[in-house]
Amino acid sequence: MTDPRTLELAANLEAVRARVEAASAAVGRPPATVIVVTKFFGADDVRRLAGLGVTDVGENRDQEAAAKHEQCSDLDLTWHFIGQLQTNKAKSVVRYADLVHTVDRAGLVAALDRACAAIGKVQDVLVQVNLDPVQRRERGGVATADFDALVDTVNHAACLRIRGVMGVAPLGEPPGPAFELLAGLSSRLRTQVADADIVSAGMSSDLEVALQHGATHLRIGTAVMGSRPDVRYRQTQGGSHNEGEAQ
Ligand SMILES: *Cc1c(COP(=O)(O)O)cnc(C)c1O
Repeated sequence: MTDPRTLELAANLEAVRARVEAASAAVGRPPATVIVVTKFFGADDVRRLAGLGVTDVGENRDQEAAAKHEQCSDLDLTWHFIGQLQTNKAKSVVRYADLVHTVDRAGLVAALDRACAAIGKVQDVLVQVNLDPVQRRERGGVATADFDALVDTVNHAACLRIRGVMGVAPLGEPPGPAFELLAGLSSRLRTQVADADIVSAGMSSDLEVALQHGATHLRIGTAVMGSRPDVRYRQTQGGSHNEGEAQ
């Protein structure tokens, strides 16, 4: 392990794992699954991560994800699609995604369902909830008021299996209330679908708070990978959150 990038990733991973273990232990739960968000970094990094014991990777752009998945097809990884998804990308995404986190509207449910029917796949999905304050809902996710109806739609899609909920905490305010809201929706979902127990919440900066509110899956980019290479995007998005409309 002399490659400096591998050493850097190893050290970052160790630090994140220590944070996750400590925060999970503090709330008396088994350590959450860490999804390493590899967007903007190459397949060589994905390969390094796999060598370091990472089992789950996350991507937010279809084109980038499809290419990386292909280059890493020999690796035993679980691929998470965490970006805003346009319906015309559904066909591509279902070819490689093990879990689609960002189902947020009926039209996307229909597109994913059709795409899966065509290839004979049952696709695991999460319903993404918009946790932004009502007056600034620019990012993805279903409004909480429409959550039950969307869950119903997913449950009626023959080729989709609902596995839980996903949310991104709002920018510029404490994330606790948003994660608490997400936890409440998760409980409600589980009264209908008992095994839909995934709560995808928490990123590099707020993973401890997410774990306090029952996150089972964390989406960690920067804390493992370092700053993302695209400077423009960091400046406009503050280096976090649901950046990157999937083309
Ligand atoms: C990029 C991204 C992350 C990772 O964010 P970091 O702050 O770098 O950990 C998590 N979730 C989503 C939806 C993302 O797009």
